[in-house]
Amino acid sequence: MAEPEVLEAIFQNTAEMVPDYLKSQLAHRHMVALADTYEGWAQDRRTTPERSAQLLGWADGLRRLADEVGPAWNPPTTPTVSVTGFLGRLALDEPSPSPTPLLNRPDIRLRPDSVLASPLGLFSAWSLLATCAGCGEARSVPVLSVRSHATDGATVASVIRRLRCRSCGTAPSAVQIEEGPQPGAGRQVSLV
Ligand SMILES: [Zn+2]
Repeated sequence: MAEPEVLEAIFQNTAEMVPDYLKSQLAHRHMVALADTYEGWAQDRRTTPERSAQLLGWADGLRRLADEVGPAWNPPTTPTVSVTGFLGRLALDEPSPSPTPLLNRPDIRLRPDSVLASPLGLFSAWSLLATCAGCGEARSVPVLSVRSHATDGATVASVIRRLRCRSCGTAPSAVQIEEGPQPGAGRQVSLV
């Protein structure tokens, strides 16, 4: 059995760790619903005392954030949310934007629907591989080069919709997004 001081320290540290950026991810109601959810999990008999202390810390931190933002807080809608943002909506059975792909974790597979909904800027170092539906020409386009034509916060989907073949002007029949400037160098996600 863990010492009470150890559990207290886990609780305090976790409560302080709840990041401020969650204000951009969660409305007041989501923060409260998530705090309720974590407190419920903390009481599960299968949970270790350490894990319970951590869950209660998360709940406490979220309630602090909720107090800070006030009951009227509703962040602007974004094309993607963090995993916590997703969980907050799930707790209330609300529809949620796709969770943001974790680009820094190559072991996590990117889902095409989540990539399409993400801001193009997240993929600055990637390339689009477009195959023309008309002449069949395949072309690799660095995201950086299309980014200058896109508005800030434009999604991958909105940019792909506007892609046209350089030779014949037809829309692509297939588009993949690939990590790294060299074809075949990194992870690849088929989008169309
Ligand atoms: Zn073409």
